[in-house]
Amino acid sequence: MEFQIIAGELCLDFINTLDNRPVPERRKELLCSYEDLADWAAQAGAIDAALRSALIREAEANPVTANAVLTRALQLRESLYRILKTRLAGRRIDELDRRAFSATLGEALSHLQLRPTRSGFRLDWTKEPVNLEMVWWPIAKSAGQLLTSDDLARVRECGANTCRWMFVDRSKNHSRRWCDMKVCGNRTKVRKFYRRTKTQRRHV
Ligand SMILES: [Zn+2]
Repeated sequence: MEFQIIAGELCLDFINTLDNRPVPERRKELLCSYEDLADWAAQAGAIDAALRSALIREAEANPVTANAVLTRALQLRESLYRILKTRLAGRRIDELDRRAFSATLGEALSHLQLRPTRSGFRLDWTKEPVNLEMVWWPIAKSAGQLLTSDDLARVRECGANTCRWMFVDRSKNHSRRWCDMKVCGNRTKVRKFYRRTKTQRRHV
C-alpha cells in the first residue's frame, strides 16, 4: 500500500493513518496488519528498507506477537492523538494519557545507543536482535520531540471537515490550511466554485 506522508513530522503522519477521523461512518483504518505498519514506517522514513524486510519476516514467523505490537502501536497513536487534540483545544491533557505516553517514550528511548562519529557522537537505535517493537520506537521519539518543541504551537488540522489530518505549519507566513493542496485544498475549492456557479445561475 502507498501512504501519503504530508505532515512534516513522523508522529503526525502516524496519527493520520486513521483516515476520515471526524466522520465515524467514513473512518478508515489504514494500518490493518503489522505489514501495513512496517510499510508505512518505511515510507515515512522511520525505518530503512532492510529493517522493514527483516521485521516483516519476523512478523510472519510470529503472527500473534506481531498483532499485539500492532495493537500497542495503535494505542500509542490514539493516546498521542488525544494529547494533541486536547492541547489544540487549550485544555489540560488526561493524566492517564500523560502517564501512558511517558512510559512508552521511556521504553523507546532505552533502546538508543551512543555511537562515536568522526566529529562527535550520534544516537542510534539498537539493531540486534530484530524485535517487532522496533517499528514504533522512532514514532514515540518524534512525539516526545514535537511535544517539547516550539513546533507544537504550529500543529494544525486540515481545513476540510471530513479530513482533519494533522501537520506542522512550517510555511513562511503560517498560512498552511490543507494537509495536501492537491487532495483537500482542491476538493474544497472545487466545492466552493460549484456553489458559486449554482448561486450565480439562480440569479440569472
Ligand atoms: Zn486534508
